[in-house]
Amino acid sequence: MPTHVWDYLPEYENERDDILDAVDTVFRSGRLVLAGSVRGFEEEFAAYHGMDHCVSVDNGTNAIKLALQALNVGPGDEVITVSNTAAPTVVAIDAVGATPVFVDVRAGDFLIDVDQVEAAVTARTRCVLPVHLYGQCVDLAPLRRLCDRHGLQLVEDCAQAHGARQHGRLAGTVGDAAAFSFYPTKVLGAYGDGGAVVAPRVEVADRLRRLRFYGMDGAYYTVQTPAHNCRLDEVQAEILRRKLTRLDRYVSGRREVARRYAEGLGDTDLVLPRPNHGNEHVYYVYVVRHPRRDEIIERLRDYDIHLNISYPWPVHTMTGFERLGYAEGSLPVTERLAGEIFSLPMYPSLPTGLQDKVIAALRDVLATV
Ligand SMILES: *Cc1c(COP(=O)(O)O)cnc(C)c1O
Repeated sequence: MPTHVWDYLPEYENERDDILDAVDTVFRSGRLVLAGSVRGFEEEFAAYHGMDHCVSVDNGTNAIKLALQALNVGPGDEVITVSNTAAPTVVAIDAVGATPVFVDVRAGDFLIDVDQVEAAVTARTRCVLPVHLYGQCVDLAPLRRLCDRHGLQLVEDCAQAHGARQHGRLAGTVGDAAAFSFYPTKVLGAYGDGGAVVAPRVEVADRLRRLRFYGMDGAYYTVQTPAHNCRLDEVQAEILRRKLTRLDRYVSGRREVARRYAEGLGDTDLVLPRPNHGNEHVYYVYVVRHPRRDEIIERLRDYDIHLNISYPWPVHTMTGFERLGYAEGSLPVTERLAGEIFSLPMYPSLPTGLQDKVIAALRDVLATV
């Protein structure tokens, strides 16, 4: 049996009765779009975060895009973010007509270097968009102060950080909006696509509801500002409601997998992830570093272990974003990390036997690279 970094099938076998019951509940409800399951999930996801508003959408990319639009970020505006992220963070900024402006990250935690943000602020900056990468929160207190000082919007990309906390505070509760993805691999994953925006202000939530529904106010069949259709499906919403009740268990399962990696690999020359002080890491992916990364990945194939890299190409080096004008070498830490990182299998239902196999194979390979 090949081993991959992610697999949902063990979890499905554990939860199958509940998942099938969720599907059946929706199919028998007589309402298939924007009905009780979507409303219920939105209320419960907002409540989980202690926030007043949650608006669900069809995926995480649209969650970011609509969050920006709801905060009036658009053409001519600059959005400060990072290049070492899933490309959709940047695709969403591009999609609203704004210009992504990249700052470098810190080598220790892969997160935005908050100290470099101030220098990137220009007269056109409208928004700062930090990414809680790999499941660990960016230090938001100084970013919040900076945004308030310059009159900027703060949008959190929480696609990798469901349930992550910093000094006890959940990811998604500091920004003017926070975007979540429920893509199946995520810490809270649907059985298909899904996304949501959590926001503290009612006018932002109202705008989000129009933006996901053709630009209409729910009750009135008339459009003021045309928009697309970005609704979350009732079936995915009902599955997400069920899984939300288990989110804290998924997180502790991931932490346990991380603990076993640290125990099994702590004495090797792999650089393992280490949570920053005050951070509760949720290990969306378990990213390690080694200068001979490519050789290690290659050799592990002999053990039928197939690892991947999150992410092999920083966004500013992609052909599609050449026009942004970032030369090679312009984000040195980001570029160096991209050449050394790789991800080990990580999901809460990872069988311990499989994890032991990965640890043993890695120890074998590391002894001779
Ligand atoms: C997954 C992800 C997204 C995009 O979410 P989709 O639901 O796949 O559209 C955006 N940002 C980050 C950091 C992600 O990991």
